[in-house]
Amino acid sequence: MLLQTDHALARQSWYAQTATRRQDHPPLQGEVRAEVAIVGGGLAGLSAALELAQRGRQVVLLEALQLGWAASGRNGGQALAGLACDMGEIEAQIGLADARRIWAMTVEALTLIHARRDRYRIACDWQSGALTVATSARKAASLRRETERLAQAYGHAGQWLAGGDLALHIRSPRYRGGCYDRRGGHLHPLKYTLGLADAAWREGARLHERSPVRRIERHRSVTLLRTPQGQVVADQVLLAGNVHLPTMPGLGGLPAGIGSRIMPVGTYVAVTEPLDAGEMDGLLPTRAAVCDSNFALDYFRPTADQRLLFGGKVSYSTVTPPNLARSLRSRIAQVFPRLAYRPLTHVWGGFVDITMNRAPDFSRLPPDGAAGAPIYLLQGFSGHGLALTGLAGKLVAEAICEDASRFDLFARLQHRPFPGGERLRTPTLVLGMLWHRARDLLG
Ligand SMILES: Cc1cc2nc3c(=O)[nH]c(=O)nc-3n(C[C@H](O)[C@H](O)[C@H](O)COP(=O)(O)OP(=O)(O)OC[C@H]3O[C@@H](n4cnc5c(N)ncnc54)[C@H](O)[C@@H]3O)c2cc1C
Repeated sequence: MLLQTDHALARQSWYAQTATRRQDHPPLQGEVRAEVAIVGGGLAGLSAALELAQRGRQVVLLEALQLGWAASGRNGGQALAGLACDMGEIEAQIGLADARRIWAMTVEALTLIHARRDRYRIACDWQSGALTVATSARKAASLRRETERLAQAYGHAGQWLAGGDLALHIRSPRYRGGCYDRRGGHLHPLKYTLGLADAAWREGARLHERSPVRRIERHRSVTLLRTPQGQVVADQVLLAGNVHLPTMPGLGGLPAGIGSRIMPVGTYVAVTEPLDAGEMDGLLPTRAAVCDSNFALDYFRPTADQRLLFGGKVSYSTVTPPNLARSLRSRIAQVFPRLAYRPLTHVWGGFVDITMNRAPDFSRLPPDGAAGAPIYLLQGFSGHGLALTGLAGKLVAEAICEDASRFDLFARLQHRPFPGGERLRTPTLVLGMLWHRARDLLG
């Protein structure tokens, strides 16, 4: 059900209509051997495939549908430092010194995007500048404290802006203050994801589309991944299937407990028709990406062809909410009243994999019994994975080929399953989110 809903949403995306798929990768046929097999052709899996292939490993990546069709190819396009959770959560778990190392890696995730764009000539419409904004005086004070703390404790200097200074970046009556980060920015995520796939393939990774893994079998020294027409015999395995892995129809042998640590949450996006450049100057003069600091947040940015791309509105059911275009248009009007009646040309959405504490969930699942290799898992990016997935794939490659210490630092973060397990977690989450939503509305 999740797969069907999500696939329907994918087809409506503006990204799908503005990126070219230059290559079709055939389904897996017969048996192949791999040093590393990867499940999932989104940014996390493709990044790992690229890094492993660069290190000379024999890599086979299996994608159930098409490379980049899921969250990676149709997100808000905002590449930001940090994590979805507050750094206080990380400090409480592993201490300030190690939280600083994690923060530094989230900044490295941004430089990695640039390095890959340059090295593999990935044309993906990069635009620098990211702004986090507050919708009330109380939230502005809190965001300002957080900005100062990031500068003081993490050495990450954001620029605090209010009044006329804020208007240099955004012309909206809705915001009371904001923090500008010149290192963040935005891009066309499907062009970037397909560029990464191309790079991985050119480095020697074998990529197979329309190859859903139906069964995972762990043996003494190898793991078997079975697809409808073939199987991979792998020394090491990475699972990078996001919300679709635990919900994949008929999948057997998935290590226990993975699915209950993440929860699929729908988030929705629309684009306006192209505005003229002068009109965009009157909304987002520096063309920065913007998101607010609310729990159920709005995020938006201009596209390269001068549309406003606007995301928000979460849903905890796998059914697409009714009147999506109308509700997104009313949110756009709150931010930019002059766009209240502007037609939206495309409306779509997707599912993010949130964890209870919104920290990413990277793990090495121990072998069954004494022999065998661990299985690597990347999930739980919690709506903040565009840049971080790139780094996550690199950390898996480092752990397999060189040194696991950076991967293990993330793997030390503890995750609790959602209360109620996979069946009852939704009502529990809805209650929690309603409480946060009420706080958003109180100002
Ligand atoms: C609407 C939306 C807006 C977002 N906006 C932002 C943003 O602005 N900034 C940001 O940082 N993050 C954003 N995110 C989050 C970000 O897109 C994700 O964190 C990131 O793309 C996750 O990448 P992934 O590779 O883990 O997963 P995905 O891109 O979901 O890829 C997982 C892949 O695994 C495949 N798969 C699963 N199971 C199997 C199986 N059994 N066999 C074979 N293949 C399998 C799936 O088919 C899928 O292609 C947004 C997400 C959404 C949905």
